[in-house]
Amino acid sequence: MTISGECFCGKVAYQVDGELHDARSCHCSRCRKAFSSQASAYALVKPGEFSWLRGEGLLTTHANKQGVGWQFCSRCGSTLCGIVNSTIHGVTLGCVNGDPGIELSRHIYVASKASWEILPEGVPLYREDAPEDA
Ligand SMILES: [Zn+2]
Ligand SMILES: [Zn+2]
Repeated sequence: MTISGECFCGKVAYQVDGELHDARSCHCSRCRKAFSSQASAYALVKPGEFSWLRGEGLLTTHANKQGVGWQFCSRCGSTLCGIVNSTIHGVTLGCVNGDPGIELSRHIYVASKASWEILPEGVPLYREDAPEDA
């Protein structure tokens, strides 16, 4: 399966030659800021299956001391992917084009959700983190 994604302005685009894994939504305050939203929507990729199609030079990186962070389009601000030590770790589901064939399998850190968010029903909710295979 081939999955593509791009930012809001379309200047930055990527392709994943494979499947997305472990789609999750994190409701912690840090993810709210990073995603400018009520929660993250994020799935893992196998690093060797990810490639930039265009606009890689427009990316801005924000990472912590441990090398964990995000990459954004410097033109439009879309958050495109997560990185660990400069290697692609996963992609933001909001920038994926079409149906990636995966659904959010868990909502984590819901104890930290925003006061204004109403949590979805009928999905696995975890007050904090969840095991990787949840
Ligand atoms: Zn853009
Ligand atoms: Zn989070």
